[in-house]
Amino acid sequence: MSSLDQDQRLHPSCRDKTTVSSDSSDAHELAKQPLQGLKLASHAVLEEAQQRGRLKCSKCGGSRMFFCYTCCSLVGVTVQEIPLIRLPVKIDIIKHPNETDGKSTAIHAKILAPSDVTIYTYPCIPDYEKDKVVLVFPGPGAVSVQDVMKYLLDRTDSDSYYSSDEPCIKRLKSKEVQGATHTAENPESGTPDEAKGFESKVYPLERVVFIDSTWNQTNKISTDERLQDLLRVELKMRKTCFWRRQKGKPDTYLATIEAIYYFLKDLHEHCLAQKYDGEYDNLLFFYSYLHSVVNQAKTSAGKC
Ligand SMILES: [Zn+2]
Repeated sequence: MSSLDQDQRLHPSCRDKTTVSSDSSDAHELAKQPLQGLKLASHAVLEEAQQRGRLKCSKCGGSRMFFCYTCCSLVGVTVQEIPLIRLPVKIDIIKHPNETDGKSTAIHAKILAPSDVTIYTYPCIPDYEKDKVVLVFPGPGAVSVQDVMKYLLDRTDSDSYYSSDEPCIKRLKSKEVQGATHTAENPESGTPDEAKGFESKVYPLERVVFIDSTWNQTNKISTDERLQDLLRVELKMRKTCFWRRQKGKPDTYLATIEAIYYFLKDLHEHCLAQKYDGEYDNLLFFYSYLHSVVNQAKTSAGKC
């Protein structure tokens, strides 16, 4: 424990809080401990690495545990020892340059889904095609994950094949439903998408953009004109388990890795029209471990 960051021990857990919900199934889900019941790879490798303590990153020399957030490489564990995940869409994370790398959970996504996740440092933002890319960001005009496909298809001109009032699930069943479960079972069997050309499992959605920064910085990035044309998607009724909750922010303000996880889970159920069976749970491989370590430390310190 002593080798983990000091501030990982100090913040309260969200696990006993309740959230008002108008939807009974969501309320039921929120009432459960959100990190329980995940289909995760064994944490034994992380426990052993933690016993050994921090090691020097071979690239930058920084003192790190599990991974180096500066170099985006593993430290003290090998790539064969951690789960690798394939995602049904590409994920871009735009990070504010002032964000403290060590506190960001964006790196978890890059390490666990390396061929599908790209991290950019603001003001570096790629050019996005607005009919294939969405931005996960709350606010007026943001739509739910369920409605993403309908809105995206409305934006495309090639609507002759699809009628916009047909449910997205029906359309996808006829054309696109395949792969997510399969790729999750064989995470290392694929070749990098750049080499073979990326084929989205949830046409026309190809890429989802997340902003990784504190609240004030997030506003600066989200108002960047290059992101204004993107459809905005809001994750509703989810609450954070982050042990570094930002002061004064509601508990629906998610850590980046939580936001990515919940988005993909919703996408899987609503737009791939498949029962969710833990396909992306390992995105929380590091997160859930660190969360449990922090909770144990608080318990033993008598702070619960
Ligand atoms: Zn490093």
